[in-house]
Amino acid sequence: MLGMPTLFDKISVLSGMGPKAREALYRLDVKTVRDLLFYFPFRYEDYSRVKRVGELVPGETVTVHVTIDKIHARPSHRSSVKVTEALVSDDTGSLTVKWFNQPFLVKTLAHGRRVALSGHVDERAELVLVNPRYEILGEEEPVHTGRIVPIYPRSGVVGEKRLRTAIKEALGALAGLPEILPASIVEAETFPSLPDAVQAIHFPRSEGELQRAADRLKFDELFLHQLLFGKVKEARKEHEAFAFPINEAHLKGFAERLPFALTPGQKRSAWEIVQDLAKSHPMNRLLEGDVGSGKTVVAAMALSVVLAGEKQAIYLAPTEILARQQYQSLSGYLSPDTAALLTKADCLLGGESLSRDELRERISSGQPTLVVGTHAVLEENWVLPNLALVVVDEQHRFGVRQRHQLLSRGEMVPHLLSMSATPIPRSLALTVYGDLDLSIIPERPKGRKPIATYCVDDAQETQMFQQIRDEIDGGGRVYVVCPLIDPSDTLGAASVSDVAQRLRRTHFKDIPVAELHGRVKSKEKEEIMRSFKSGNAPVLVSTTVIEVGVDVPEATVMVIEGAERFGLAQLHQLRGRVGRSDKASFCFLRPSGSLMGTARERLDAFVKCQNGFELAEMDLRFRGPGNVFGSAQSGFPDFQLATLGDVLLMKKARDWAGKTLQDDPFLEGHPTLRDQVQEELEDLHLE
Ligand code: ADP
Ligand code: MG
Repeated sequence: MLGMPTLFDKISVLSGMGPKAREALYRLDVKTVRDLLFYFPFRYEDYSRVKRVGELVPGETVTVHVTIDKIHARPSHRSSVKVTEALVSDDTGSLTVKWFNQPFLVKTLAHGRRVALSGHVDERAELVLVNPRYEILGEEEPVHTGRIVPIYPRSGVVGEKRLRTAIKEALGALAGLPEILPASIVEAETFPSLPDAVQAIHFPRSEGELQRAADRLKFDELFLHQLLFGKVKEARKEHEAFAFPINEAHLKGFAERLPFALTPGQKRSAWEIVQDLAKSHPMNRLLEGDVGSGKTVVAAMALSVVLAGEKQAIYLAPTEILARQQYQSLSGYLSPDTAALLTKADCLLGGESLSRDELRERISSGQPTLVVGTHAVLEENWVLPNLALVVVDEQHRFGVRQRHQLLSRGEMVPHLLSMSATPIPRSLALTVYGDLDLSIIPERPKGRKPIATYCVDDAQETQMFQQIRDEIDGGGRVYVVCPLIDPSDTLGAASVSDVAQRLRRTHFKDIPVAELHGRVKSKEKEEIMRSFKSGNAPVLVSTTVIEVGVDVPEATVMVIEGAERFGLAQLHQLRGRVGRSDKASFCFLRPSGSLMGTARERLDAFVKCQNGFELAEMDLRFRGPGNVFGSAQSGFPDFQLATLGDVLLMKKARDWAGKTLQDDPFLEGHPTLRDQVQEELEDLHLE
């Protein structure tokens, strides 16, 4: 491009950003140069070590500056793959280089060119570089080699090389980027300035510089979030909600009809919720409890209060299976003719099918109704004139944005109850979900035995199957969970049918084995779950679709194939599918090979520990908080960079946000910050 870009230029001013690229990036909400600067790498490759060819040793990751002596492309003996092979050298020696499937390189890297190559040194018959990154050496500072290289998520046609080049150009606009943090914070925390941090998150000169930049930018995310929480809480007080005066006789009646006594944690949580519902401002509460702690019945009590008060409610489940299951359990707790199920496949009221129009009519006339469903319910855009309560099950997939989307329907704002089995310690939860009030169920119902957990290697397999057989003979059900083997197979059908077929051929010749994965249609899913629950097919091979919430009390065995591929929190969720009655239950971990190092340690720790909160903390320890290189960011939807591991930064952000708002509630002294908070609030439709 000509001249320097400015922050608010469209990305089309940058090189390589033609119509196709633009379209792909627009889809990610990257429209301006500023947006692109805030599109951060998700990991890095360290190619900063530059060596001479004669000094190379196998196994290292390096950059060499070399001349191309020979280069040609040839088909490989392995089918369709094209190999480009080159001989390169510097004055200390020569080296073979191979690229797969990039035949155009013969033109780009012609004979005699001086290039930088970055990659991993392999030893075959001789030393080789396989698929190194390349860059033609010129006057400019290198972008793709010879440094810590940022790796961006590929987006459509925009490969990482093109993105990197465009971002490098966009950095020219950085001087115009205004500081958003109050100067006192930058100074006290010795943070790099915002332009320096953005520069370094893309093109760090050292690991230390990258770490400091990442910390600063994570702090920005968390700090803004905390300010937003303050504002959101304030805005909520100005909204009106239906109030349900506490009716002790009703609550008592509800509890007395239950087949069990509520645990102290359930009682306390239900009481906190009922008190919130009695107020004319919307509740916004998170109910946290380990798997199997009995959150559903607590939600049911709140729903019964609303239905008894002749108002309407929505219960959102993360999957269709769960929506159906929760519809059944909730119908048992409530008067069934007021409960409806609405999913892609079903439309039921009081257990009977009806047309969508009939249900829509009933609902829009304001009749007291509970609608159970998945997010598809929200997309229907139905009018519920008496909507008083929304329950969101397994809320960790839900960010502040989604939460507030729910709050902005109609004049009366519904009460919101989020439920989560993600065991986050209280102090941390208050920071992460600072806009929510918190109720915790710390215990599981009495009489539950710990789930005997074992790591089973091939030698112990026969013994394991004998035990499983005994369980089935005694009326138990068995889950067998498979990981996604091929990452492109997001539906998991391949591994599930593999394992199921093997079981039918070997250990379970005479036992019906059912299969469940993402490719199964929802009608069929229901069928399969029913025959599993009833015992017609006592073995269910599935992907992690059963991970959250599925409740089959007869299930007493959980087998997890490829167990080392799962995080501890996820393993715990899976294990929580059994041990749901007073019978003894088992969890068998089947690693996919012999394990070493931390993989072994993690599974050993899991075998010994049954407490979700402790496991969550162990997960943080194994992952190493604040580890920028290769850190994963699942389950934390509001942030690009910050993760649950950033405990210290979260505390800092919360303290600073409190102090900042206390000194200057309207942020008058910090206009840039004020504008940014305002912008986010508007995004949430709260102003
Ligand atoms: P989660 O908290 O994982 O959502 P559920 O609500 O699915 O747990 O409850 C798990 C099982 O425990 C259900 O079968 C439920 O009927 C049972 N349950 C809930 N509360 C109690 C209790 N206080 N005593 C005994 N069983 C209970
Ligand atoms: Mg649940």
